[in-house]
Amino acid sequence: MEEQGEVGMRLVCTHCGSSEPWPVARWPCSCGGPRELADLEVFAPDSIDREQPGLWRYRAMLPVPAATGPVTLGEGFTPLIPGAWDGVDVSWKLEYLNPTGAFKDRGTVLVVNDLLARGVDQALDDSSGNAGASLSAYGARAGIHVRLYVPAHASPAKRAQIAIYGAELVTVPGSRIEATRAAEKAAESGPVYASHVWHPLTLIGMATIAWEVWEQLGDRAPDWFVTPVGQGTLLLGAWRGFQRLASAGLIDRLPRLVAAQAERCAPLAAAMESGREETLAVPPRPTIAEGVAIVNPVRSRAILQALRENQGLTPVATEEEIAQAQERLARTGIYVEPSSATAVAVLPQLQSQISPGETVVVVLTGSGLKTPLERK
Ligand SMILES: [Zn+2]
Repeated sequence: MEEQGEVGMRLVCTHCGSSEPWPVARWPCSCGGPRELADLEVFAPDSIDREQPGLWRYRAMLPVPAATGPVTLGEGFTPLIPGAWDGVDVSWKLEYLNPTGAFKDRGTVLVVNDLLARGVDQALDDSSGNAGASLSAYGARAGIHVRLYVPAHASPAKRAQIAIYGAELVTVPGSRIEATRAAEKAAESGPVYASHVWHPLTLIGMATIAWEVWEQLGDRAPDWFVTPVGQGTLLLGAWRGFQRLASAGLIDRLPRLVAAQAERCAPLAAAMESGREETLAVPPRPTIAEGVAIVNPVRSRAILQALRENQGLTPVATEEEIAQAQERLARTGIYVEPSSATAVAVLPQLQSQISPGETVVVVLTGSGLKTPLERK
């Protein structure tokens, strides 16, 4: 099978539907909407390279330049292990075992390979921590200078991780949105804005989690796919991955999506409740689930569409529920950060809707080693 190149690929705006040839100079469409890559390769099981240990087994389905060897740190193909929570059988997808301790590596590795192929040597992003640490690590691996704009409230463990990879760290006072503004301004004069939120390859990288789960369950989709949601790139990317499996005729139904959020920052739940097509910014309130504290997700329109398409749910968890879930899960040998524990904390709310025998995949997104050591 021929490797998928960028020739003829288009970026399509998820708001107004207009398209432009990829690559583009600026991420948002002229209408302000986020864009996604179109004309993707049909998922072909025969082209999976089963010798490859990580997500590069799906290389034939990934729109990355056909360079010699990709820059990799061994990301992807994380374990799916059985577990139980309050009487519900679940499968834990251990995304915190990715190279930088979070699922973000799936998207970053594609973005960085793309930057490298274009001869980019300076990149920047804004992040509350995990995406920043991921870009710093892959930048270091690829020899690309990385500058990160990080909100002052980001966990010291995450900031230390970004710094040790050698990235330039700029701490921005104020809420999360201020870090984004600072990054956007800096990108006007030089470094490429390798935004994990806007860059279309992020979603493509996230699609690989759906393909792995499909393989790990014996070539079938789960009934439920539960994940914490901040910007929602994992939820939306996985949904796109399942859609590609469905259009290839490999699954006959899509999973029900569950977007878990912290009660203190739940714009998707609010939009679902009021029937809006897009989220409205919610007031920023501090939460221990700092990694998912996104007041107005960029791709909310596509996310809400995906949720509504198959009876998706948007449960929220209180601070206490999140902290308790983190501790209880650790007592079973699994140590995740509070943001990730959000997905576990909402499981009791799903109990009545899950039928016996249904498969529930819960994505454990980030390592507990990133947790601030002192709380409260
Ligand atoms: Zn548009």
